Amino acid sequence: MTLVKLRVLVLAAAAIAAGAAGAPAADKIRVVTTTTDLKALTEAVGGNLVEVDALARGNQNPHDLEVRPSLMMKVRRADLLVMNGLELDQWAEVVVQGANNSKVTPGAPGRVDASQGISVLEVPTARVDRSMGDVHPVGNPHYTIDPGLAPTITANILEGLARLAPASRPAFEQNRREFVARLDQQMPAWTAALEPFRGAKVVQYHPIFVYFFTRFGLVKAGSIEDRPGIPPTPDHLVRLIAEMKQTGAKLVVVEPWNDVKLADRVAQEAGAKVRVLAPSVGALKEADTYIGMIDYNVRTLAAALR
Ligand SMILES: [Zn+2]
Repeated sequence: MTLVKLRVLVLAAAAIAAGAAGAPAADKIRVVTTTTDLKALTEAVGGNLVEVDALARGNQNPHDLEVRPSLMMKVRRADLLVMNGLELDQWAEVVVQGANNSKVTPGAPGRVDASQGISVLEVPTARVDRSMGDVHPVGNPHYTIDPGLAPTITANILEGLARLAPASRPAFEQNRREFVARLDQQMPAWTAALEPFRGAKVVQYHPIFVYFFTRFGLVKAGSIEDRPGIPPTPDHLVRLIAEMKQTGAKLVVVEPWNDVKLADRVAQEAGAKVRVLAPSVGALKEADTYIGMIDYNVRTLAAALR
C-alpha cells in the first residue's frame, strides 16, 4: 500500500469517527420523549446509559405540535418512547404510526406513560367534547412542572428503562436516588421562598401551573383563555377583569408562546402585572435544566408577589 493510499484511508476513518461522534453509541438505549421536561427527567435516570431526544422543543407549545417527517425519523430509531399522556401529546400517536417502529407502539415494552400514578387535577365533571376545542378533556396534563411529582415520574421512566435493560436497573435506581435527593435538598428553599405568599391569587393565560400552584399554596384565580386551548371572547375578558378587581389578583402569568400583549391589556385594566414563566425545560434560557426551570419559576413568582 502506498503512503498516499494509507493517508486517504486514515482520513476516511477519521471522518467516519467524527460523523459518529454526534450519533448515539450502539450500546446506549435510544429514548425519545415528547417533551423537554421528560427528556431532562429521563436523562436524570438513564445517565450515560441513554441517548435522549425530545420531539417538542422547549419553546414550542406541546399541545399543538406539527407532525413532521423529521419527528418520525427520530421515533423510527427509538428503543423507548416516553409520553406525557393525559392527551397532552396525542399527536405523538400520529408520529408513531408514521415511524413504523413496533418497539414503541401502544402497549409495547418500549412505551412509557409518565402520568401513571399521578393524582390528576381538574378532571372535568361533565363530558368534554374535544371538538369544542378544550385541550384538557381528561384533566390537567401539566404535572411535570411540579417538582413534588418528579419522584413518581422518574419511577415510571425507571420501569421503562429497566424493562429494556434489566441488568442496568441498579444503575438507574442509583441515578434516580441521587436526582430525587437533589430535589429534596432544594424543596425547603422553594417552599420557604413562596411561603409568605400562601393564598395569593394568580391568573394564568392557560392553566399550566395548576400542579405547581397547588404544591406551593398559590391560588388559581381564573385564566385568560375561556376554556383550556380556547381563545377568550371579549365577554370572558370583561368578566375576568371584574373578578380580578374583586378578588385582588395582582399577577398574571403567561407562557412565552401566549399572546403577551393581550395579557398586558388585561393586567393593565385590572391593576395587575404580567410575568413570563418557564412552562418547560428550555422554554427560557434561564430554565435550561429541570431544577433550573423550577428555580426560575419560584424566584420569578416570589419577586412578582413581593
Ligand atoms: Zn394545557
